[in-house]
Amino acid sequence: MNIDSIGWNHLRGIEPLSLCDWPGKATCVFFMGGCNLNCPTCHNFDMAWNMEKLPVLPKEDIKSFLRNRAQWLDGVTITGGEPTLVPNLGEILFEIRKASKLPIKMDSNGMTPETLEDLLQQGLVEQFAIDVKGPYVKYPALTGQAVTAETARKNLERVFDLATVNPGAFYFRITKVPILTDDDVETARGYLPDGFDLTIQKYIPPRREHAHADNEAGRPVGNMVD
Ligand code: SF4
Repeated sequence: MNIDSIGWNHLRGIEPLSLCDWPGKATCVFFMGGCNLNCPTCHNFDMAWNMEKLPVLPKEDIKSFLRNRAQWLDGVTITGGEPTLVPNLGEILFEIRKASKLPIKMDSNGMTPETLEDLLQQGLVEQFAIDVKGPYVKYPALTGQAVTAETARKNLERVFDLATVNPGAFYFRITKVPILTDDDVETARGYLPDGFDLTIQKYIPPRREHAHADNEAGRPVGNMVD
């Protein structure tokens, strides 16, 4: 399998139309499998950790979908899992943009700031939605011990620096999972650079019996392309 196929192989879900993933825009949503965190509250656990259980969406079907649907869409949302981990991501985004001629918004947990910076500098992503999971001290518990408080702080501070220089390209969200108090949310809000706000997403408990149900805020994931 070549590197191009390995990257496209992560594309395991699609929502043909979403009115809530990019505020003010109608987008389709592509779900990329794999994640670097292990959040116990994850709704998208198969997409994050067991993407092999989900069907691959063929690249040519995706490009055909984009060519046919682009005229009714304002943009393309790329989510996961954690999409910044996908091999050859820049080439995939380039092909999505070429087929759709649409701007791209990407969700990220913010733990790969160098990739975010790279994508921004290449002009491949117009908008990043970054999840700030809570106070740094709670990151080990929030991420299944995947990152320390210090690693979370270091990575997010790099993202905040990027946002300060590119204020139109970022917004920040938090999902109020059960271990977060109101004070925790305010602590996380206090990390943001001047001029940014933290959007609070309601937490919906995962339904573990459903194979690939939703993201942390409880949104359904489809896998059909038409
Ligand atoms: S909630 Fe997001 S960052 Fe956490 S494991 Fe799931 S997909 Fe990864």
